[in-house]
Amino acid sequence: MYDVAVVGQGPAGGMAALRLSEAGHSVVSFDRKKRVGDPVHCGEGLGKIALKHTGYPVGDWAIREVEGNRIRMPNGKSVGLMSPGYSVHRWGLDQSISDDAVEAGTTRHEGIRVTKVNRDKDGWILSSKDGELAKAKQLVVAEGRVPNIVTQIGLKGNEKLRLLPGLQYKFKKDDVDFPDTDYFDFYIDPRYADGYIWVFPRNDIFNVGIVATNGAKAGLDYFCKEHMSVDPDKRIESEIGHRQNGGLIPRDGPIPFFSTKDAYVVGDAAGLTNPITKGGVHVGMLSGQYAAIAIQNELGTGELVPPSHSVNCHELRGQYWEKCEKALHPDLESHVWYDRIMKRQPWTQQKFVDQSKLIYSLDKRILNLIGEIYDGNNYSKLPWLKMLGVLIKNPDLLPMAGKLLKIKSSLKVTETYGW
Ligand SMILES: Cc1cc2nc3c(=O)[nH]c(=O)nc-3n(C[C@H](O)[C@H](O)[C@H](O)COP(=O)(O)OP(=O)(O)OC[C@H]3O[C@@H](n4cnc5c(N)ncnc54)[C@H](O)[C@@H]3O)c2cc1C
Repeated sequence: MYDVAVVGQGPAGGMAALRLSEAGHSVVSFDRKKRVGDPVHCGEGLGKIALKHTGYPVGDWAIREVEGNRIRMPNGKSVGLMSPGYSVHRWGLDQSISDDAVEAGTTRHEGIRVTKVNRDKDGWILSSKDGELAKAKQLVVAEGRVPNIVTQIGLKGNEKLRLLPGLQYKFKKDDVDFPDTDYFDFYIDPRYADGYIWVFPRNDIFNVGIVATNGAKAGLDYFCKEHMSVDPDKRIESEIGHRQNGGLIPRDGPIPFFSTKDAYVVGDAAGLTNPITKGGVHVGMLSGQYAAIAIQNELGTGELVPPSHSVNCHELRGQYWEKCEKALHPDLESHVWYDRIMKRQPWTQQKFVDQSKLIYSLDKRILNLIGEIYDGNNYSKLPWLKMLGVLIKNPDLLPMAGKLLKIKSSLKVTETYGW
């Protein structure tokens, strides 16, 4: 009987396994991939703040630093989200976290798909198509975007129909006509339905990808030809031998409950990806860390104390403070504490999800006007006078003002937690 079983070794499951093994617990982990991290489902951008928040050190999987992110409007003008980050080998990051967990004591099984979990009086029994795999007192569900185990433990998972497809190519810089800058660029245009194109510079390569509700391949091919002057067929193989990569991304916000007795849902499995950027590594790692705190408490080796970076009661003021203290009381059952603290994060609020979606409802003209107003400035430095000028010339925008301010507040959360 293990203390903890972790299903999935992406960044969320890897982080949970690492922190629990470090705390001295016996942990067994499974991943259906033959080698953790391969294939990649990612644009391979990560904010530096993700490492600060999780205390995970930068490694040689980080291949280039960028100064920040720019949301580019159809007219090319941009709004900045200036949190610095890295272009990463995503397979390297996932392997690094999971390998560290193994080093700390986790027993890892790769190439094994957990098909079933049951509970008996002692704990969880995990099985594959070939029979029983392991028993564990506590369970971490880190299976990524497609729900299977989540629903078996009685929780509601991401709805498959609400997943957004993503696709990415890599090009040698010499093969494209495109400026090499120290920024991650996101091209928003209603042409890329409910989504955007990203261009992430690496050392001698550009990662170019798309998320869109429909026509993803057509949209990406169009961008390559029209904006980078390159035939999509010129894309190159990745370091691990794939000519393209992609996958599905939760886009509608978190699942209603993050835990049930002795079982914790983390990362994409909990629907945590950012509704604007669709980035989910940062919050995935964070949720793995929170689950580890709750489980340590349950197993008697830790207390229900949030890590210092988290939004805890002391950051809230006035009437909310008392309510929050009560809600996160250290005498709570561990899984209830996990569910509550997750629900108190700025990135799990329904308000944030709703505000974030607004940006994809704007038409081209409005996006261009926002670009005109900001013209490269950071989202937080709204040039009020310029905005006034644009509003006077475009009075039909006035009723939109409330919507635009809501988008601005969702960008605040995104700047910190979006990648
Ligand atoms: C095209 C694309 C681009 C993206 N770009 C970015 C980006 O640039 N930055 C960013 O932060 N995020 C990005 N994301 C989102 C990010 O990849 C996810 O949010 C992140 O991977 C979530 O981590 P996770 O550990 O929850 O899930 P995953 O990384 O999906 O890991 C889940 C793991 O569980 C395993 N698994 C699943 N079911 C089972 C089972 N039954 N048994 C055993 N193993 C199982 C899988 O093999 C997988 O390894 C992108 C996503 C896509 C699809």
